[in-house]
Amino acid sequence: MSWQHVTLGQRVLFGTGEAAAHLAAEVERLGAQRVLLIAEEGIADEVTSKVDVAARVTDVAPHVPLANAQRAREQAAGADLLVSVGGGSTTGLAKAVALTTGLPIVAVPTTYAGSEATNVWGLTEASRKTTGSDDRVLPVTVIYDAALTASLPDDLAIASGCNALAHCVDSMWAPRADPINQALATAGIRALSSGLRAIGSLAGREQTLYGAYLSAVAFASAGSGLHHKICHVLGGAYDLPHAQTHTAILPYVLAFNAPAAPDAAGRVASALGGDLISLYDEIGASHVLRGVPDVSAAADLILPSVPVSNPRPVTKEDLVTLLAAATAGLNPSGAFA
Ligand code: NAD
Repeated sequence: MSWQHVTLGQRVLFGTGEAAAHLAAEVERLGAQRVLLIAEEGIADEVTSKVDVAARVTDVAPHVPLANAQRAREQAAGADLLVSVGGGSTTGLAKAVALTTGLPIVAVPTTYAGSEATNVWGLTEASRKTTGSDDRVLPVTVIYDAALTASLPDDLAIASGCNALAHCVDSMWAPRADPINQALATAGIRALSSGLRAIGSLAGREQTLYGAYLSAVAFASAGSGLHHKICHVLGGAYDLPHAQTHTAILPYVLAFNAPAAPDAAGRVASALGGDLISLYDEIGASHVLRGVPDVSAAADLILPSVPVSNPRPVTKEDLVTLLAAATAGLNPSGAFA
C-alpha cells in the first residue's frame, strides 16, 4: 500500500436532545465572552437557551451571497466566537465570516449537508459561485443533535440524506481518494441507507445524522469527484436547489462510472444492501433533474472541471447523455448502454 491521508482536527459532540447542554459547555470551555449567533429565525432558540448571545445574524441565504457575508462580517466586530445553527447555507455564512476574521466556529447542523466537517467555503457574487479551502473556516467544534433535524420535512430530509450519500459515493473515486476516506465512506453509506429507510423516526434521523458526519469527513479528505463537479457547475449556473440536485444526479454518475470502477461499485452496492435505485424507490427519493434548460450548454460548462482522477474518461457526449437521462428520469442502469 502507498497513500497519503489528511485528517482535519475538530471536536465532535453527538447526542440526541443534548445540543443546548453541549453548546453551553463548549462556550465555557472555549472561554468565549461575546457570541455572535448565525441562524435563521426560530431554529436556534432552544439550542442557545443556556448561552449569552451578544448579537445575531439571521439573513441566511442559499450559496452565501457576498453582500450577506459582508453584513455579517460587520456584525462580528467585537465577537470572540461564532455559533451557527442551521443547514449548509447557515454554516456557509459562518464560514464566510471566519474566512476574513479568523474567529472560531461552533457549528450546530440541522440538515445532513455536511459543511460543518469540511474546510471548504463558498461565496456567490453576481450569480458566480467561488469556492476555496482554508483551515480557518473549519468549525472547531460540531454539535450533532438528531432532535434538531426532526422539523425537516420528510422530502427535504430524504434529499439532504441523499446529498450525504453522494459525498460517500463520490469519495470512492475523488482526486484524493485513499483507503481511509473510502472506509469512512463505506461506513457512511451503511448508516445512511439504514437511516433513510427509517427517516420517519428519531432513531432513523439519528442514524442519518451519524452517516452525514462520516460522509462529510470522507468528502473533506477525498475532495470533489465527477458528481460534485457536475452539481457545483449546475447549481451555480442555474441556481438549482442543492440537496435535490445532488439526489437527482447521483444514480447517473454511479451508473456511468460503475463499469470502470467495479471495486468501488461493489463496495457501494454491498454497503447499500442492494442497488441505489431500489433504495430511491423504497424511500421515495427523486432522480429526475429539474431546471437545466439546455443540456448541451450545461455539458460545455461542466467539461473543463471533470477530474482527471475519474475512473472513466468523460466526453461532452457522455455528459449530454447523462444530463438528458437525468432530466427525463430514465432508469440509470440503461442510460449508458
Ligand atoms: P439549506 O441550509 O439552504 O437548508 C435548506 C432549507 O431547509 C432552508 O429553507 C432551511 O431554512 C431549511 N431548514 C434547515 N434546517 C431545518 C430544520 N431542522 N427544520 C426545518 N427546516 C430546516 O440547505 P442545505 O442542503 O443544508 O445546504 C446547502 C448549502 O450548503 C449549499 O450552499 C452548499 O453549497 C453548501 N454546502 C457546503 C459544503 C462545504 O463543504 N462547504 C458541503 C455541503 C453543502
